[in-house]
Amino acid sequence: MPFTLHGIGVSDGIAIGRAHLITQVSLDVSHYLVEEGQIAQEEERLRTAIAQVQGELRSLHAELDRSGSGELGAFVDVHVMLLSDPMLAEEPLRIVRERRCNAEWALIQQMDALMAQFDEIEDEYLRERRHDVGQVVERVLKALIGAQPAMQSALTKTQKIRAQQSQESEMIVVAHDLSPADMLVFKEHQFAGFVTDVGGATSHTAIMARSLALPAVVALHHAREMIREDDLIIIDGRAGVLIVAPDASIIAEYASRRERLAAERQALRLIVGTPTATRDGTQIGLEANIELPGDVPAAHDAGAAGVGLFRTEFLFMNRKSLPDEEEQFQAYAAVVRAMQGQPVTIRTLDIGADKQLDAELAHDGPALNPALGLRAIRYCLAEPQMFLAQLRAILRASALGPVRILLPMIAHAHEVTQTLALIQEAKQQLSDAGEAFDPQVKVGGMIEIPAAALALPLFLGKLDYLSIGTNDLIQYTLAIDRADDAVSSLYDPLHPAVLYLIAHVIRSAAAANVPVAVCGEMAGELAMTRLLLGMGLRQFSMHPAQILSVKERVLATDLARVRPMVARMLATTDASELRALLEELNA
Ligand code: PEP
Ligand code: MG
Repeated sequence: MPFTLHGIGVSDGIAIGRAHLITQVSLDVSHYLVEEGQIAQEEERLRTAIAQVQGELRSLHAELDRSGSGELGAFVDVHVMLLSDPMLAEEPLRIVRERRCNAEWALIQQMDALMAQFDEIEDEYLRERRHDVGQVVERVLKALIGAQPAMQSALTKTQKIRAQQSQESEMIVVAHDLSPADMLVFKEHQFAGFVTDVGGATSHTAIMARSLALPAVVALHHAREMIREDDLIIIDGRAGVLIVAPDASIIAEYASRRERLAAERQALRLIVGTPTATRDGTQIGLEANIELPGDVPAAHDAGAAGVGLFRTEFLFMNRKSLPDEEEQFQAYAAVVRAMQGQPVTIRTLDIGADKQLDAELAHDGPALNPALGLRAIRYCLAEPQMFLAQLRAILRASALGPVRILLPMIAHAHEVTQTLALIQEAKQQLSDAGEAFDPQVKVGGMIEIPAAALALPLFLGKLDYLSIGTNDLIQYTLAIDRADDAVSSLYDPLHPAVLYLIAHVIRSAAAANVPVAVCGEMAGELAMTRLLLGMGLRQFSMHPAQILSVKERVLATDLARVRPMVARMLATTDASELRALLEELNA
């Protein structure tokens, strides 16, 4: 029986495929399908791990007795008992055998099922034993982990086996939550789309989905509990709809919609070579946002005029040590070379908030409020050696083609002054070492904290250009966590305060003759193109997948018509009038 779930569509497109469930715990361990001939071996791995943990628990019990803490032994007894129960000792083996899941995955599935049963128990004491189940499973997982393949190779295995089984090979990832670092792993794999229980439209996870041009729906709340592995599902990334177990007529309808969308995308390719200008002839720059050097071909494909934002933090994720200067140089150089003389804007490390380094590398453990903590430029200035290495790597790349340095999250004049001094120091170090760089390299700042937008003169004399990060600007102006779906309905790009700040920055920068761009998600939102043009914006940077539709809108825009309408929008605080004017603007 088909059923539909509604969430927030964060990346346009239709995907039809089989669900691949990723549980929260299993994000940290492998989950893959086991080859037919390997099943017995996989069962043996699990039996050995369980026996090992039973041995550990017995030794622990004996140790507690010896040290006179015998009463604590009762807790250990509960764990021994749980681990001897067929529900944990045998059921996961059946899952390995019948569903061909690897040992860790089978164990986690059974843990989830058991925990759900414990949650139903009325007696509070017994209900609390769910935690014991979790602790025992964690011990067994640790015992299994020795020979655990990384998540990446596990996903490859699963895909390979599905292809062998000639099942619907398109896989749709279903998870409670995915971090930007998890998405990086998915970049290596051919998924048809993904859905999550939580998340907001401008979270970095959603941004990654758009950069991969993968249909995605977030904030589905209980999707992971309602979908089983291998269920056939459809996602509509525009409407924010997920359909589970669709019947033949629904599949046919969505398959034809998917074809229509593909045809529309193909038709847009006709304008790739057309110069980007409004109907009245004003030139507009459309550049690309990229996360990794591998994104450059997509930028070229869309006819991007350059890279307006290279989010370098993705080079720093999913690894146990930071990339050194040489490794960074190679990555930046690859982008600069591949862009063949077009400008490349390299943003210095914007780590923190929802873009985290591996736990071992994180600065002093989790921040109290990560979005307001040691993020981006603050983190870099607190780690000057790491920052200098990045600056040297960017400067060296500037010898190979036009490079601009972009500083994220600036709020104070001294952050810019300090960084400029570090850039000077990095240049000196390179000169001393006989390394080439562009001495005139441009340095710009992201305007994404309201204080920076309001006190623009702090920066106008110091920086060569500005780039407005609307994702964070909206988050900090409205005090809405961009990744939290509980408040996502309040994340409003049309809030008068947001519009005022953006228009104010564009106007003030123009008056000071300082180039200004928008590189937040708003730059790629079709509904916002004319609004930004009417505010005076001439430089946009967005994911390659969005460039051609925005270009089509630019080509069809008459600035003389748009300007007075945008002026009216900026003069009103009435939400419904604003929306009506936006509709008229886009008509
Ligand atoms: C922004 O905040 O708008 C931006 C472009 O930076 P990021 O999304 O990487 O925080
Ligand atoms: Mg930002």
